Amino acid sequence: MKFATRLQQLASEVVDQYGAMATPIYQTATFEQESADMHGAFDYSRSGNPTRKVLEDQVAALEGGAYGFAFASGMAATTAITRLLRPGDEILADWDVYGGTSRLFGSILERANIRVRYLDATDLQQVRDAINPATKLIFAESPTNPLLRILDLRGLGTIAKEAGLLFAVDNSTMSPYLQNPLELGAHVVMHSATKFLGGHSDTTGGILVANDEAIAKELRFVQNSEGTALGPLDCFLLLRGLKTLKLRMDAQQTNAMKIAEALTQNAKVQQVFFPGLATHARHELHAQQARGGGSVISFRASSPEEANRIAKDAQLFAIAVSFGSTHSTISVPHSMSHASVPAALREQRGLPLDLVRLSIGVEDVDDLLEDLSRTIG
Ligand SMILES: *Cc1c(COP(=O)(O)O)cnc(C)c1O
Repeated sequence: MKFATRLQQLASEVVDQYGAMATPIYQTATFEQESADMHGAFDYSRSGNPTRKVLEDQVAALEGGAYGFAFASGMAATTAITRLLRPGDEILADWDVYGGTSRLFGSILERANIRVRYLDATDLQQVRDAINPATKLIFAESPTNPLLRILDLRGLGTIAKEAGLLFAVDNSTMSPYLQNPLELGAHVVMHSATKFLGGHSDTTGGILVANDEAIAKELRFVQNSEGTALGPLDCFLLLRGLKTLKLRMDAQQTNAMKIAEALTQNAKVQQVFFPGLATHARHELHAQQARGGGSVISFRASSPEEANRIAKDAQLFAIAVSFGSTHSTISVPHSMSHASVPAALREQRGLPLDLVRLSIGVEDVDDLLEDLSRTIG
């Protein structure tokens, strides 16, 4: 079955008794059991809930994985990955990770004596050289957010395998439609479902998908023990969003390509970052591991003041963090989504102060182009 068809076919064993076409919202905390020693498929919603199970099975199937887990947010999902580590363990991560991830890695993991070392993970030799006996996990995003750098996921997967490390990939910027990290060697795929999976900016959620039974068992244990699972209503919203994932992303991506091209032609734009462009430094590598450029574009305005002015003056782009929604948004990562990056790391990363990030929606591209050309000048 092709992807568009799979989105309309639920991959779960959980089937509604009345054949409801939309998965019912099982808004219940607990489930009555037949007897004290006969337990049904579900007993308590923190441990498992039918609406959530349908979502978890569906995203797992779309990622080509066997086990899915839905969390209250992307950060709760990433936190669950870090629970696979022990005090003294170490994580290797590319320096251009999502702001919330570096806050978690820095301020929270430090308390558990788990150390994170940042490096330029586009350079595989740097990663190989950085591994020491304490290293347990390689954590990667590709494309990275917000600089849209491309990491060689297959290469990182091979390094992880050879060194016996866990390899986790945050696939939020691509979704299962455009990239499937498990096929490239990842053990765990993470999604901020808040972005493309939901697609309407109406809920937050996070997903983990794994193929390995032992890892899945651990993740299930963590999800249940910490009580970080996603509620049934939000699972329903994500299930609804998923049905139009391809339609939305096709439209967003087509729009994004035209906008990225127009930005490269604009004399007031210093540099455009979009992996869909043939001029992107690692366009070819991206094309070998993903099936499209997505719809997140970053560009450098002529100055930090200009970046802020553009964000303010654009009419059709809401000033908002997040991406992947039907509605176009604009943000200045330095003062918004990545303000949570510890100052020292922000300095080390050299995140340009004049960087503007666009998330392209499903509007008519002519209107978006006109708005940007009027605003940027
Ligand atoms: C938004 C985002 C997250 C965090 O997800 P939340 O749902 O906001 O908790 C993690 N990684 C990336 C790449 C993101 O864009």
